[in-house]
Order: sequence, then C-alpha cells, then structure tokens
Amino acid sequence: MNILALTLNQLVRKLETDYGKGRFHARALYREIFDKGNLNLGSAPEFRASPALAQSLEKEMSVNPGQVVDSFQEADLTKFITRLFDGRKIESVIVPMNRYNTLCVSTQVGCRMGCTFCETGRMGLKRHLGTHEITGQLYNARHTLKKPVKNVVFMGMGEPFDNFESVMDAVKVMHVQQGFDIALRHMTISTAGLVPGIEKLAAQNLPGIRVAVSINAPDNETRSRLMPVNYAWPLDTLKIALSQFPLPHKGTFLFEYILIKGVNDTPVHAEQLAKFIHPLPVRLNLISCNPVPGLGFESPSDEAMNRFSRQLVEKGVFVIRRWSKGRSVSAGCGQLGRS
Ligand code: SF4
Repeated sequence: MNILALTLNQLVRKLETDYGKGRFHARALYREIFDKGNLNLGSAPEFRASPALAQSLEKEMSVNPGQVVDSFQEADLTKFITRLFDGRKIESVIVPMNRYNTLCVSTQVGCRMGCTFCETGRMGLKRHLGTHEITGQLYNARHTLKKPVKNVVFMGMGEPFDNFESVMDAVKVMHVQQGFDIALRHMTISTAGLVPGIEKLAAQNLPGIRVAVSINAPDNETRSRLMPVNYAWPLDTLKIALSQFPLPHKGTFLFEYILIKGVNDTPVHAEQLAKFIHPLPVRLNLISCNPVPGLGFESPSDEAMNRFSRQLVEKGVFVIRRWSKGRSVSAGCGQLGRS
C-alpha cells in the first residue's frame, strides 16, 4: 500500500476492506505520516489500543518518496534532486516567501510540449510521474529537508495537464487538513495552455485552486514558434477557456511572460499583450529570460524590462516583475532538467 499515492477516500476504502477500520484511522495515518513524518504508528494515540493493527499497517505500507540525492543553494532558495525507483531524476525547488516556503514540484520526467526556450522541453517526455512521486516531493521538502511549506506550485519539470489524473490525486492528497494541509488557494497549476486540461480542471470540485498560464507571446505567430502547443490551441481558444473557468470571487489567473531579447519584447508586443489580457482578471509575472546554453535566447536589458512593464501598467495590467531567482543553480523558469 503506497500511502503517498492514496487520497483520503481511497485510504478509507482500503482500511474498510482490508482491516474493518475507516476514516478515524485513515486521518490518523495522514497526520502521523504526512504531517509529522512519523512512521512508527504504535506511538499514535489511535493505534495504542491495537498494536497488532499498527504493526500490520507498518508492514504493508510503503512510504517511498524517492531519495534526495543532491541539493543546491542560492541565497535562501534550494533546488533538490530526487532519484526515483527506476533511477530517473527529477528536480524540485523551494522558494522562500515571507514566513513560509513555496515548493515547485515536477509532474513528469521531461516534457513533450517542446517549448523552445526550455531545458526540460529539450529532454522530451521520458515518463509521467505517479501520484506518490509528486506528493513525495512535498514529503521530502518537509521531512527530509525540514522546510516548512505552505504553497505548492505545479511548475517544475513537465506539463501538469498532460498527467492530469496523477496531478489531481496529488492535489487531493496534499489538501487534506490532517495531513500536508495545503489549502487549495495555495496551490497553483501552471500550464503551457492545454485547453482540454483547463476545461477538465474547471469541472473538478476544487474551489479556489489557482491556474497559471505561460503566455510568452501575444500573437499566434510568435507564440507558436516559442510554444508549439499554440498550434493546437491558439490564443483565442485559450482565452475562451479561461473566460469560462469558474474563478472564485476576486480570483485571478497568473500569467507568466518570459521576456526574451529581440523575440517578444517590443512595444507592439506589450500593446497586443494588454489587449489579449483585457478583460480577464490577471496578475502578470514578467520574468527576465534565463539564458539556457545552446538555445540561443538572451535576457533583455533592465531598461527593456522597465519599458515593457511600464507600458503594461499604463494599460491597467497588474504586473509583477521578476529577475529570476535561482539562475546560478539552474532553478529558474525553463532551466530545470540540467542536473
Ligand atoms: S516550459 Fe513547461 S510546458 Fe514548456 S517544455 Fe518546459 S516544462 Fe514543458
């Protein structure tokens, strides 16, 4: 029984079928393992009266989040590498934000979306991650690296909507209050623009979960060149899907726009971008391109960043400027996959 892969309801069913127990013990397991990182179940009050049950659960249960084999530090940001059961490696990033950390998790080994500015895209898709390999990154951040995590962003290696079922189950596991206790409004799923994924997410009962979209160009020609996914779901289709997404009251989408020198950084691009965004409720992360060796893209100058940002703000767009954290440890956007 791989508990990192089991949603609370699945665990309850398993305990009912195999042990004649139910929600009470399932919640205790979530608390001991996910919240406390305690694998010695006999010490939990719910199991004290039945040590035999604790023993057989310990025997049957596996908690295998993968082994953290390396980690890199830049200031207070940490990138860590997990080796999975088949020897493949994935990367995760812990970004400090105020009092708590945000954990950026991977959802696939590699990615098949082929974005031309992205190191992970260059790998191609090796395989999807199982639910336990996604939740395992949170388990390792909390209990192996001892970092308090309150936010999870699905923005690491891979396209989350290309591995939809496992990502949805991971969201459900992470959300349970007795366990990892990550609020839905503290989870963000980032997509390159897979419209069927946005539509399927809209149909789930996950109120408040946040959606981020890598936009990166405001016209189909440039965007298709940077992100081939745009051929299948061009900007107008994407905009319709977003406008139909059930945002909570005062909810916003997060758009990411990687500014690349000479590619998507002109005043015309800024003008078109503001038009595309209107009237969607959007917070725009403007990110300076992280140059990846061999991909031929350059960072814009500070002046170009300022000009682009100013033009959007004048058009009423809410802009957050980011000079990518983690550049020296290859932990910035589009850089995962090089370790
Ligand atoms: S930017 Fe995201 S969707 Fe595009 S290739 Fe990289 S990991 Fe995949």
